[in-house]
Amino acid sequence: MLIEPKVRGYICTTAHPAGCFRNVLDQIKYVTTQRPIATGPKKVLVLGASAGYGMSSRIVAAFGAKAKTIGLFFERPADGKRTASAGWYNTAAFEQAASRAGLYAKSINGDAFSDQIKQKTIDLIQQDWGGGVDLVVYSLASPRRTHPRTGDLFHSVLKPIGQVYTSKTIDVMTGHVSDVGIDPATPKEIDDTVTVMGGEDWVMWIDALLDAKLLAKGVKTVAYSYIGPALTEPIYSKGTIGQAKKHLEEASKILKEKLSIISGEAFISVNKALVTQASAAIPVVPLYISLIYKVMKEKNMHEGCIEQIYRLCADFLYRKDGHVPVDATGLIRIDDWEMCEDVQQTVSALWSKVNDGNVDMLTDLTGYRRDFYKLFGFEVEEVDYGKTSVVDVAIPSLE
Ligand code: NAD
Repeated sequence: MLIEPKVRGYICTTAHPAGCFRNVLDQIKYVTTQRPIATGPKKVLVLGASAGYGMSSRIVAAFGAKAKTIGLFFERPADGKRTASAGWYNTAAFEQAASRAGLYAKSINGDAFSDQIKQKTIDLIQQDWGGGVDLVVYSLASPRRTHPRTGDLFHSVLKPIGQVYTSKTIDVMTGHVSDVGIDPATPKEIDDTVTVMGGEDWVMWIDALLDAKLLAKGVKTVAYSYIGPALTEPIYSKGTIGQAKKHLEEASKILKEKLSIISGEAFISVNKALVTQASAAIPVVPLYISLIYKVMKEKNMHEGCIEQIYRLCADFLYRKDGHVPVDATGLIRIDDWEMCEDVQQTVSALWSKVNDGNVDMLTDLTGYRRDFYKLFGFEVEEVDYGKTSVVDVAIPSLE
């Protein structure tokens, strides 16, 4: 069938297999043209492995360090005439490429928050690796979580705390810049967001792997966070998601303690703001991202998920000298280029000027939109969208 993008709000309900394949192959190509990560991990579990930062983490581990990978995600296979989700196609592409390169790669599709999927993952590691996981990447981004102990369903919200937040925002499809007022979260919404996106599940994963004695001596685990500038503070770092990220940071301290018995370490990596399915859902942030794209591309400092995660592994987690550079609060900062004063001053000056009339000139809205469509396999170079596609694509290890 011919596949076209169907955008509904901030998501696209269709995905193009050939475009998703191309995106994954391009990321692999990037990694294989960089210096190999000689001291990198060898058995890697990636939670949230099918898109965004998690997909790039899997690619860097496999193609940068020749690691065996198990990737876990929650994606939708094709159903009759309905396409699969992009993460499904991404994983199919990844597994095919890994197999061609002689790299072990298996995947699990299901709810990472559940005990059942944790057990399934443990069984697979026990059966295939017998232990020795030396890196666990926690890259889940989910709007909801069913708590495995109580069965209660929690929803995360992206809201300010304490007062209404009024800001400029953009409709990325039309380019219309307007003011938006976002009501503050209720105390329950704050707690629920922490339950979904905070660190409890990360700790549960590491506890389960520790109990099953599947973690190697010197294991590392890393979860991803974001801080951002004063401009987005009310909706991000001081909003509901910021509370969840603070909880994630606290979890990293608990995990450091727990893992010390096997000389393991837990890290938070603060990453750059990029167009992903998760970030597209945050109010106001797309306007900020279109501005940093513009400024960072002009300064030749732009990175995507793959460049960010390659740098995280090569220059931070697996540096040749074994030292992992962190900031004064113990966080890895691969948002360093985004947050540098020069970039932020320029973005802030543009932010105050941007309006309907100058949005195309002052921002890289075109680049934002292209990246958004690319997430779903559209607007990818060298893909013939006039050609019919088979939507039913298998992920070999899920057969
Ligand atoms: P994404 O939407 O691109 O990917 C999310 C992944 O989580 C997918 O693989 C999805 O299948 C998986 N997932 C979601 N719910 C799941 C569930 N219940 N069970 C199993 N898998 C599930 O997200 P992303 O933007 O790459 O975000 C990953 C992490 O990086 C998040 O913690 C996010 O806060 C952080 N981060 C993102 C940005 C950004 O700008 N995108 C910046 C800094 C940090």
